[in-house]
Amino acid sequence: MRLCDLHLHSTASDGTQTPSQVVAMAAQKGLASISLTDHDTADGCCEALAVGEQFGITVITGVEINADYEGCEVHLLGYGFDPDYGPLAGLLVDLRLEREERMATMVALLQQQGFGVTLAEVYDEAKDGAVGRPHLARVMVKKGYAASVKDAFDDLLATGRPAYVARRKLSPADAIAAIHGAGAVSVVAHPGLIGNDEVVRTLVKGGVMGLEVYHTEHGAEDVERYERMARDAGLLITGGSDYHGPGGKEHGEMGMPEVPNQLACNLLEAIRVSQGRR
Ligand code: AMP
Ligand code: ZN
Ligand code: FE
Ligand code: FE
Repeated sequence: MRLCDLHLHSTASDGTQTPSQVVAMAAQKGLASISLTDHDTADGCCEALAVGEQFGITVITGVEINADYEGCEVHLLGYGFDPDYGPLAGLLVDLRLEREERMATMVALLQQQGFGVTLAEVYDEAKDGAVGRPHLARVMVKKGYAASVKDAFDDLLATGRPAYVARRKLSPADAIAAIHGAGAVSVVAHPGLIGNDEVVRTLVKGGVMGLEVYHTEHGAEDVERYERMARDAGLLITGGSDYHGPGGKEHGEMGMPEVPNQLACNLLEAIRVSQGRR
């Protein structure tokens, strides 16, 4: 059976491999289709598309947008957009600026708490990628302030911890509207991680087009429950690993869980319909 992985991160956000490396690895693993879904940015998509062509692997443009629903983090995947569509590109620019402001505040908080960490060190780690807490966590590990990225989150950076700074609130409805406006398909990322199925049902009623049923963090019960929810509502089913790089203990391995490539074919068909509606 041919397989796909529709949730991958690269150095365009907080992954550790470049888009080219991610695509090359996917080709090496024999995956038929992939999508690069970096946080709040489409910057890696052009490179991924070009390298995908070289390797003969289908690459679908993607993005993972972090939204907030009444205090719950809701991640929305957008697939098959036109990277030049103004309102989506504009939203991504806003989110990028917000990430930079938020990081400056987190670093200042850490400095006040006596940690010798600078914004320059964080940007050295993030390079040109959309900056995020994992970059800061890696700096904290390098400087010996935390034993692991996970510890840096647990002790300092996770919600409610001493260096945590909340994001500006973006509603899932606004994120979904921007995705649909760009002729793209919206999918709720890892619904199991939202931790509240009422929120998932609200998103379904609000017009989201698919659920990421298969995900590293989903157990068999989650898969069964979200598959039923998707089928009952006539939604697309997708899946992916949430790969952030080799050996990452906090995220999945590329290609795991195994996702049938038919789901990527269904997604591509839905993208064709969405693009036609624009
Ligand atoms: P940010 O985009 O700056 O809010 O950071 C979110 C990123 O941090 C996501 O990619 C998560 O995978 C990662 N993350 C969130 N919580 C943890 C944790 N407890 N341990 C490791 N990584 C985490
Ligand atoms: Zn990430
Ligand atoms: Fe996510
Ligand atoms: Fe992700």
